[in-house]
Amino acid sequence: MNPEHPAAIRVLIADDEAELRAALADLITSEDSLELVGTARDAGEVVELARANQPDVALVDVKMPGGGATATRGILERSPRTRVIALSAYEDRSTVMEMLGAGAAGYLVKGTSPEEIVQAITRVVSGQTSVSSEVMGSVVHELSVQLRKETQHSEELRVRRERIERAVAGEGFSLVYQPIWELATHRIVGNEALARFSADPVRGPDVWFAEAAELGLIVQLELFAIGSALTDLSRLPLDTYVSLNLSHRTAMSPELLDVVAGIDRGRLVFEITEHEEVEDYVALVEALARLREGGGRVAIDDAGAGFASLRHTLRLAPDIIKLDISITAGIDADRARRALARALITFADEMAMTIVAEGIETQAELDALLALGVGYGQGFFLARPAPLP
Ligand code: C2E
Ligand code: MG
Ligand code: MG
Repeated sequence: MNPEHPAAIRVLIADDEAELRAALADLITSEDSLELVGTARDAGEVVELARANQPDVALVDVKMPGGGATATRGILERSPRTRVIALSAYEDRSTVMEMLGAGAAGYLVKGTSPEEIVQAITRVVSGQTSVSSEVMGSVVHELSVQLRKETQHSEELRVRRERIERAVAGEGFSLVYQPIWELATHRIVGNEALARFSADPVRGPDVWFAEAAELGLIVQLELFAIGSALTDLSRLPLDTYVSLNLSHRTAMSPELLDVVAGIDRGRLVFEITEHEEVEDYVALVEALARLREGGGRVAIDDAGAGFASLRHTLRLAPDIIKLDISITAGIDADRARRALARALITFADEMAMTIVAEGIETQAELDALLALGVGYGQGFFLARPAPLP
């Protein structure tokens, strides 16, 4: 500390331009009210000097090696009382916002007069923000642009939320059913419930469910779809099951047990349709065990695609493995697909699981699957999804 001026403001300088560094150092040294505690050329140096010296103020060049914003965050982390003033050659808006966002208390454009620099230092120490007038216009402009963007974004969110909420209320929502066949006997054993949305924008159910997931409404939407399917149960042949699509979030939700309460679980298959990675397998396995009580069965949807990896299948130990259409399509003409299917079939046999092939579109695919020993299947060739009569 300067012995003649015990209350001098202790200043650290960081700039990669030697000339500027020297000029600033001269300025600080020549001022009685200021004391120079060090000079640095890059982010690493200034953070280290700040840690060691705990200065009152750090003048930080925004474009030095390592970056001004990184330096600012580092300084504030290691010397929280230090007030950072950004120094920039130009009033580039995004840099201004970045530096202020990183915690800078002031922003000076290089070329500011020495008096103004000293003033700015004094001001930030007394707790005021110090932004040169050239920069202020940019800040205000940037804030207004951001505000407009945020308003737009929240308006979009509102529209998206509302259309999911309308679907959850049943508006524009319906179900179709696609029969699942025992391939050898050509007998229908179950029906997969598939959602249809007639509201704008026109798009597939997977997109609607993905949007609901993004907005945190997936459980509500899936529970609504499942509830609707359960009310159709009495209109489906008694000796068939209904296959319900649901994400692991819904499978783990306590409300699901309320929705299926009082239903003959022997007629229910819960198809775990994954669009995201499962974080907590222990909790999911426990939830599936509860769904299995009373004869409920669990299927892995889209096996061989997306998140339905072999590891996923192994961990959930389902009753049914649904071979994804990407494996079924063209299986009659493709050895690799047949090999993959054969591996899954062997695995399923070994584990006493059932295979359902999805997306059978041709007689040739059906024959190939039968030859491989696949027991069950669905697809446009057998029957398209359709509303209940
Ligand atoms: P998914 O569960 O794998 O359903 C099978 C999809 O394949 C259905 O598409 C079905 O219409 C279609 N499909 C059936 N046979 C064939 C075929 O031979 N060829 C081809 N190319 N496609 C066939 P959809 O109905 O458009 O549903 C797409 C996905 O949306 C579903 O895939 C499922 O992930 C999701 N989804 C549909 N309804 C629901 C629902 O109620 N709840 C949840 N959580 N997801 C649903
Ligand atoms: Mg499915
Ligand atoms: Mg599928």
